[in-house]
Amino acid sequence: MAINLCELVLSSASSIQLILPLTFLFRMEKNTAEKVQVLIIGSGPAGYSAAIYASRANMNPVLYQGIQPGGQLTITTEVENYPGFPDGIQGPELMIHFEKQAQRMGADLRYGLATKVDFSSTPYKVWIDDEKLIEADAVIIATGASAKWLGIESEQRLNGYGVSACAVCDGFFFRGKEVAIVGAGDTAAEEALYLSKLCSTVHMFIRRDEMRASKIMQDRVMNTANIKMYWNTETDEILGEKSVEGVRVKNNQTNELNTIPVKGFFVAIGHTPNSEIFKDWLHMDEAGYVKTIPGTSKTNVEGVFASGDVQDKIYRQAVTAAGTGCMAALDAERYLSEKGLH
Ligand code: NDP
Repeated sequence: MAINLCELVLSSASSIQLILPLTFLFRMEKNTAEKVQVLIIGSGPAGYSAAIYASRANMNPVLYQGIQPGGQLTITTEVENYPGFPDGIQGPELMIHFEKQAQRMGADLRYGLATKVDFSSTPYKVWIDDEKLIEADAVIIATGASAKWLGIESEQRLNGYGVSACAVCDGFFFRGKEVAIVGAGDTAAEEALYLSKLCSTVHMFIRRDEMRASKIMQDRVMNTANIKMYWNTETDEILGEKSVEGVRVKNNQTNELNTIPVKGFFVAIGHTPNSEIFKDWLHMDEAGYVKTIPGTSKTNVEGVFASGDVQDKIYRQAVTAAGTGCMAALDAERYLSEKGLH
């Protein structure tokens, strides 16, 4: 983009002979590796906590924020369980605090997505946006997890046209309308409650005869008058040509089909760890969660550490992610000291 803009400006000034050297300079920048001590990949509670600790230990961390700066908390509403905020705090606001704190400590925060890594030898290589190469003595992975989808054709076709995986982002478009939500965990419960404040009715589909969500969230959902629960119910098809007009659901005990007219369809069935680019290098479980040595953030590659939801399928809380981000920075510091690199 920068090259095109530059070419355009220079062309209009009729300084054609300057185009080549400048283009060459931009290419040079793309192809030349930048060497850093600690590279942090990801900007949720884990990544920013690692950045705060690594900065305070003078490791001059560079942090790439990824596709969703601030991570999953930027698409949530009230966070009631992050210690230190007795009245609760909005997720996006909490992440702004994290970011500002990391910045104040001196972390170098940058836009960009890590697209490829090579952990075969040190310094480790990480490519950003398929272009820029960073070489790092230590790498902290904090790439989090992404929303899961049901995998039916209509869900993909109508994604963005009434189908969404984020009630907080898109609920607003369905004010006063009927919507559906699938899922039975804390996320689904939280999103159903959020939608119930905006929408006339929230139809909630639960595939078993019980919810996985915590008791307090279950109670809140069940005590909300405009949330209608459907037990043992699976989504058969989302209906509509250009936008969502309804949903056909099936009772998996009786096989009975039922069509419900809704304008919005929200999917809240959990997350997948963002670990794809590391699969050739790091040990993972069958779901793709990066394995760490218990009680540490160490992966099977010396000097590569993992923190937050990408390595945690059990707790998955902002506070546990922040805690493991701190661990990763401390582990990285010890590693670099032992190697005489810090
Ligand atoms: P979970 O994995 O906890 O729940 C996913 C839910 O989706 C389950 O109920 C599951 O059903 C259901 N599901 C999965 N696949 C399908 C499918 N194909 N069709 C229908 N239903 C399906 O994910 P969450 O995102 O809800 O929560 C993740 C973690 O984050 C949890 O530990 C949770 O406690 C935590 N969290 C905490 C919050 C808070 O404290 N404020 C807020 C949000 C999340 P089944 O039960 O049958 O497997």
